[in-house]
Amino acid sequence: MDYDVIVLGVGGMGSATCDHLAGRGVRVLGLEQFDIGHDRGSSHGDTRIIRKAYFEHPDYVPLLHKAYRGWDDLAQDAGEALFDRCGLLLVGQPHRALISGARRAAEEHELVLQEVPISEVERRFPGLVLSPGMTVLWEGDAGYLCVEACVRAAASRAARRGAAIRAAERVLRWTATAEGVEVTCAGATYRAERLVICGGPWAGELLAGLRLPLSVRRKVQLWFPTRGGLYAREHGFPVFAMQSEEGFFYGFPSLDGATIKVAEHTGGDVVARPEVAERALQPGDVARVAAFIVEHLPGIEHRPTRHAVCFYTMTPDEHFIIDRHPVHAQVCFAAGFSGHGFKFAPIVGSILADLALTGTTAEPSGFLRLSRFQGF
Ligand SMILES: Cc1cc2nc3c(=O)[nH]c(=O)nc-3n(C[C@H](O)[C@H](O)[C@H](O)COP(=O)(O)OP(=O)(O)OC[C@H]3O[C@@H](n4cnc5c(N)ncnc54)[C@H](O)[C@@H]3O)c2cc1C
Repeated sequence: MDYDVIVLGVGGMGSATCDHLAGRGVRVLGLEQFDIGHDRGSSHGDTRIIRKAYFEHPDYVPLLHKAYRGWDDLAQDAGEALFDRCGLLLVGQPHRALISGARRAAEEHELVLQEVPISEVERRFPGLVLSPGMTVLWEGDAGYLCVEACVRAAASRAARRGAAIRAAERVLRWTATAEGVEVTCAGATYRAERLVICGGPWAGELLAGLRLPLSVRRKVQLWFPTRGGLYAREHGFPVFAMQSEEGFFYGFPSLDGATIKVAEHTGGDVVARPEVAERALQPGDVARVAAFIVEHLPGIEHRPTRHAVCFYTMTPDEHFIIDRHPVHAQVCFAAGFSGHGFKFAPIVGSILADLALTGTTAEPSGFLRLSRFQGF
């Protein structure tokens, strides 16, 4: 056998999985079709929100505690500021999932989540205009991750720990064998006892035999010029997420002093595969975010100067799938991160390392198993 484990895809989850496997002393090969930290999949665009009062489901919170520790550890090892705890404002009507779900997660897991009057928010952050009737919650321990730097840091540490990381090595197919797996690329075939598939928006085709319930959505991140320093990180502007009848929008503090990234979490066109998605900015990509800016962020020009197309890989219930392959026990995979997975990468990498090496995990991730969907 050439390797103990092959990791197919070295993006957000694959880089963390290589890092964990190498840290456990196994011979690991990570295969990535592009470069490490590229902009073709789901892990690019400078920043990702990280938070713990998880409105999507309180069961994620124990995993988040571990993910936080994982990011701090990686940042310390890398000697890089990968994780900025700038704080997060959650804004929405109290009955909407963003607010009610965050409160529920905070209560169940005793997290600090502070309600702040609108007048105080607008005084503290004059760049924000909030609608009457909105509830605002402040999570001080939340912030953002520097997404490409995180991927590169995890892959670099994996390599320092002995992993072989091959960029520009596209996997054409994988085959389960009596001894393990065979993974075929254009110039070489690799053999290993186990395979971990972290294909992001390509997961559906890499696991085509399973007919996973996944759909890929084209999402556009937009950077708008700011006027003055109202949104500057150094002036304390935080990350924000706002849910209303118009949609779900979010944004980050200005990191370059000139632009801020604002995007819509809702919506996005379904695409058959990432390769066929339009990369150029389309007129419809801006209108809804621009309308949000006009209403809530008066210090920003509403014509973007930069954009990045990225992909959400959605499951029907918008929760992740992390499991062993139901037919081939030597294969496990993580997919369907539904636009909110990046913050979990260190704990997902640890769970996948457990599944690859022992077939099971002690982490509380049973709610993310494939069998919750009918027919699996
Ligand atoms: C616009 C946007 C905003 C988001 N915001 C947040 C946020 O604020 N917070 C948060 O936590 N999450 C967020 N997410 C979600 C998060 O970024 C993703 O869930 C996460 O990055 C997915 O990681 P992944 O490893 O599954 O996919 P990827 O990082 O895309 O990795 C998959 C890798 O597999 C490789 N690959 C695929 N096929 C092959 C092959 N045949 N051979 C070799 N390599 C292959 C790909 O090239 C790629 O590098 C957001 C996502 C988007 C698109």
